[in-house]
Amino acid sequence: MKIKDLGEFGLISRIAGSFNEALPAGWQGIGDDCAIIPQENSSQVWLVTTDMLVEKIHFLTGKITPYQLGYKSLAVNLSDIASMGGNPVATFLSVALPPDTDTEWFDRFIQGYKAHGVPLLGGDTTSSERDIVINITVLGQSDRSSVKRRSDARPGDLIAVTGNLGDSAAGLRLLLDGSLGTESHNSLIKAHLMPRPHLAEGEWLGRESGVHAMMDVSDGVASDLMHILRASGCAARVDTSCLPLSEALINATVEKGWNVRGLALGGGEDYVLLLTVSSSQAEDLAARYREEFGQELHFIGQITEGEPDIRWIGSNGEDYQGFTHF
Ligand code: ADP
Ligand code: MG
Repeated sequence: MKIKDLGEFGLISRIAGSFNEALPAGWQGIGDDCAIIPQENSSQVWLVTTDMLVEKIHFLTGKITPYQLGYKSLAVNLSDIASMGGNPVATFLSVALPPDTDTEWFDRFIQGYKAHGVPLLGGDTTSSERDIVINITVLGQSDRSSVKRRSDARPGDLIAVTGNLGDSAAGLRLLLDGSLGTESHNSLIKAHLMPRPHLAEGEWLGRESGVHAMMDVSDGVASDLMHILRASGCAARVDTSCLPLSEALINATVEKGWNVRGLALGGGEDYVLLLTVSSSQAEDLAARYREEFGQELHFIGQITEGEPDIRWIGSNGEDYQGFTHF
């Protein structure tokens, strides 16, 4: 069998089983946005996450500046810390660079990385034949009681997201099309090149007992919500008329004839948080969230009983798939 036959998530679950069984009490390994390691004699836990970006798979050097790439590479890792309710403490950066990479390119990359203000404590540097490879590990911290997992959704919970869906996917299409220019297009392209990790939102939501499951949207809600459903053993319905869509996205999809719901649910790289909230606390939580952040918590559906599956409401029978490698 080839890896492409197994798929990204099939491959991960092949590794997960035996390693996860051998873990000490309180530890959590493969399967969530971060691993969890309890700190001794403390109510705090360490959160650890790592993500790799490979040239031509995750980025094209002609379409992203080194500053933006440095910013984005760390942003996607910080987003995983946010998604568990943690705050980032330290980072490690490993890079493989072709020998003819400009030192100025790398300086600018590091400036973008530094913009997040999280310390860099180590890493590794090596050469590669042709393509740039970036791997980042982030160490975060959280109170044990504030950690949010993918596995804690319950039937009846409302499903929410902390920001617009689909902007990044549309931005990528515009970039590949070479459609630079209008302010509206540029806002979508920026969402793709420089996603903001929802750290403050994640930490705030982590402290709320009414928030049950949480993760970040990296592959698209269609794929990422399925991770929550599989981990929690339940199903969901999503009302596609409730998706938070920016005006820029709506305009671009009309202009280009793209399927707006397909982009919003399957495009990925939004790096907003996807969470489930106790239905009895949802209204109060949303009001306090609005007061704290001046932004809406967007409710898009509800967790239901049943086998892991998503029923799309208002989608005229369309089905949606998130991004997966292989
Ligand atoms: P995310 O998109 O949140 O970074 P992924 O889908 O990349 O999460 O990974 C899902 C889970 O599988 C995570 O817990 C991650 O640490 C784990 N994982 C992914 N690849 C590997 C690997 N090669 N070895 C061990 N664990 C892995
Ligand atoms: Mg994640």
